[in-house]
Amino acid sequence: MARLRFNAMGEISRRKNKEVSFPDEKISNYFNADVFNKEQMRQYLPKDVYESVITAIEEGRRIDRKVADQVALGMKTWAMERGATHYTHWFQPLNDSTAEKHDSFFEPIWDGGSFEAFRGDVLVQQESDASSFPNGGLRNTFEARGYSAWDPSSPAFIVDQTICIPSIFVAYTGEALDFKTPLLKSLTVLDKAAVDVCQLFDKDVNKVVTTLGWEQEYFIVDEALFNARPDLAQCGRTLMGHIAAKDQQLDDHYWGAIPERVVCFMKDFEAKAYRLGIPLKTRHNEVAPNQFECAPMFEEANIAVDHNTLLMTIMRRTAAKHKLKVLFHEKPFMGVNGSGKHCNWSLATNTGVNLLAPGKTPKTNIQFLTFFVNALKAAHDYGTLMMASIANETNSHRLGGGEAPPAILSVFSGTTINAILDSIEAKVSDKKLSPDKKTEIKLDIGKIPEILLDNTDRNRTSPFAFTGNRFEFRATGSSSNCAMPLIVINTAIAKQLTQFKIEVDLLIESGTKKDEAILQIIRKYIIESKNIRFEGNGYGKEWIEEATRRGLKNISNVPLAFKEYVTDESIALFGEFGILNSTELHARYEVKNEMFLKKVQIESRVLGDLAANHIIPTAIKYQNVLIDNVKGIKEIFPTEWELMSSEEIKTIKTISDLVKSIREESFLMVEARKKWNCVDCISEKAMGYETEVRPYISSIRIYIDKLELIIDDRLWTLPKYRELMQIS
Ligand code: ADP
Ligand code: MG
Repeated sequence: MARLRFNAMGEISRRKNKEVSFPDEKISNYFNADVFNKEQMRQYLPKDVYESVITAIEEGRRIDRKVADQVALGMKTWAMERGATHYTHWFQPLNDSTAEKHDSFFEPIWDGGSFEAFRGDVLVQQESDASSFPNGGLRNTFEARGYSAWDPSSPAFIVDQTICIPSIFVAYTGEALDFKTPLLKSLTVLDKAAVDVCQLFDKDVNKVVTTLGWEQEYFIVDEALFNARPDLAQCGRTLMGHIAAKDQQLDDHYWGAIPERVVCFMKDFEAKAYRLGIPLKTRHNEVAPNQFECAPMFEEANIAVDHNTLLMTIMRRTAAKHKLKVLFHEKPFMGVNGSGKHCNWSLATNTGVNLLAPGKTPKTNIQFLTFFVNALKAAHDYGTLMMASIANETNSHRLGGGEAPPAILSVFSGTTINAILDSIEAKVSDKKLSPDKKTEIKLDIGKIPEILLDNTDRNRTSPFAFTGNRFEFRATGSSSNCAMPLIVINTAIAKQLTQFKIEVDLLIESGTKKDEAILQIIRKYIIESKNIRFEGNGYGKEWIEEATRRGLKNISNVPLAFKEYVTDESIALFGEFGILNSTELHARYEVKNEMFLKKVQIESRVLGDLAANHIIPTAIKYQNVLIDNVKGIKEIFPTEWELMSSEEIKTIKTISDLVKSIREESFLMVEARKKWNCVDCISEKAMGYETEVRPYISSIRIYIDKLELIIDDRLWTLPKYRELMQIS
C-alpha cells in the first residue's frame, strides 16, 4: 500500500517541466482573438443586422429569426475560418460548473455528400434532454425537457475548435434552471431602479450597469500526489493529514517569488484567457503554501461571471497539461488559510460615472452617498440572505475560521465615510435645516476625498467592505459561481433604491426641497442600518459577542442558512422584481440541500473507506512491528524487558485505543447515514447530515492525525501535508 505514496513521490522527482511555449508577442495582439465580439460582428454581419443585434443587447429585446439566421451565418463563417468544427450552447446549471453539448456544423447528406450548416433557430434555442442537471424537482414531472437560449449580451467564443454560445437554461415550463437567467433579470431591475435615482442628480443618465471584478484564489498540487490522495480526488479536500511543522507561520509565501512550475502554468492559462477576452491583471502567491490568486480588470457583471466560470475550466484543463491539479475547494487543507472569491461590486452609468466613487463636488458626493447609504440599508435588510447566497458545504469549512469572515454580515465603511455618516446623522434634523447646518453638511460632504484607499483598505476582516470605489463581498467561496451573491445584492439594492425614490418623491411633493429631501432620507437609512456598520476585527471572538448583542444573525449551520431562500421576505423580494418566483426559490432551496447532503455523504463514505482500508491496516502493521520488537526484547532481556519496552508498550496501547475509536465512530457514522437516508424530505435529511453525520468527519480525523504522528513514515500510505504543499 505504501506504494501509493512513494510511487507518487518518485514520479514527481523524475518529472521535469515540460517545454511549454508562450506567445512572445504583446498581449494586446492576441487579446480577444477567439471571441466573436462587437468588432468581429461588425466585420462578419451586414450593417443592419449588426445594428439590430446591438440594439437588442442594449435594450434587452428579442432578436427575430431573420436576424438570427444572419448572425448564425456570420458566426459560422468567423468560427470556421478559425478552425471551429462544432458549436454548443454553453450554460451554467445549478452546480457551480458549466455545461456544453457539442454538435458539428457538418451535415452529411444521404447520397454521401456533406456540407456545413448553422441556422438561426439552433443559435437561438436548443432543446436539452439533460434531465440530470440539478433541478430541485422542477423537472421530475412527465415533461423533463429543458431549453437553452442564446444570451446575445455575452459574446460567443471558441474553445478547442468549438464555438461556445453563452446561454440561459430554463425548464419547459419556463422556470430557470441556471444562474444566468435570474442574474440577467437582476441586472435589468437594478439598472431601472438606479437610473430612476440617478435622474434626481443627472438627467443624462439613462443606463446603469453592474460592474464585477472577482479575485480568484486557488491551490495547486502535483497531480501524482493528488491521485495518491483519494480524499482530494473525490472530495476536493483532504479529510485527514497532520499539519506540517512549517506551513504559513513565517509568512514567507504571500507575495513571494512564484514557484517556477506554477509560473509556467499561470503563463499558459493566462495566454488562453487573453485569447478569450478575459482581462487578467494580477497574479500572486497567497497566504498558504501552494495557494495563489488571479484577478482581472472588472467588467460588466454578466460577462465577468461568464469569464470567471470559463477561466476555472481553462485553469483545470491547463493544469492537467502541467501535471498539476488546481483546487478550487474553499478549504483543501486544515490549519492553513482557505480560498475565497472576493466579488468587487459597483455601479457605472452611461455617462462614465462610478456611482460608488466619491466625486470632486458636493453634488457628485451626495449622489455617491445616496448609493452608498442605500447599499448599506440593503445589506442591513437582506444581510442574512446575502450570507445564505454564499453558504454551501465547502465554504462552511472556511467561514469563521479565523482567516475569513464569520457568517455574520457587517459592513466596513472606513474612517472618512463613517465620520460623514455620523455627522449627517447628528446634523440633519427631521425639521427644516437651518442655513448654517446646510452649509456645514455641504462642507462635510464636499470634503470626501476622491481617492479613499488610504483609510478604506486596511480592514481585511469584513465580509462586505467598502474599498474606496466599490463594495467587496469577501465571504464568497472560491468554488462558487459569483452569480448567486450578485443576484441577491442586485435585487436587494434595486428594492432599496426603488423605496428611496418613493420616499424622496413623497417629501418633494409635500414641499421639501430636493436636496433636503434626499438628505433626510439618507439620514433615516443611516440610523436604520447602524447596527451592521462595524470597523473592528471581524475575525475576533469579541465581534461575535457584539454581533449577538446587536441582534445580527450568525448562521453557521449550513442547511439553516439555506432556509433564508424560502422565507416570506425572500419570496416577496424576488417575486416583487420578477427575479425568481416561489417555485423557483423552493427548487433552489432543494438543490442547495441536496448538494450539501451529497457532499457530506461522499466525504463520509470516503473517510470510512480510507479509515478501514488505509489507516487501520497501516496502524496494525506498525503495531505488529512494535509487538515483534517487544517480544524480541523480552526474549533477549527476560528480566529487564518491561522497563526497556515501556514506551513501545504505551505506543502499542495508544494505537489500539486510536484504532478502536476510529472503528467505533466509523460505525456510528454509518448508522447515522442509514438513519437519515431513510428520510424522504431533502431539507430534513440535509439537517440530519449536518447535525449527526458531519461531526464524525471532524472527530475521526483527529484520531487519524494522531496516528500519522506515531506510525513509521515508510508505512504511511497517503502523501502528507508537508509533501502535498511543497511545490517548486
Ligand atoms: P485587493 O486584493 O486589494 O482587493 P486586487 O487588485 O487584487 O485588490 O483586486 C481588486 C479587484 O477589484 C479587481 O478585480 C478589480 O477589477 C476590482 N475593481 C476595481 N474597481 C472596481 C469597480 N468599480 N467595480 C467592480 N470591481 C472593481
Ligand atoms: Mg480584494
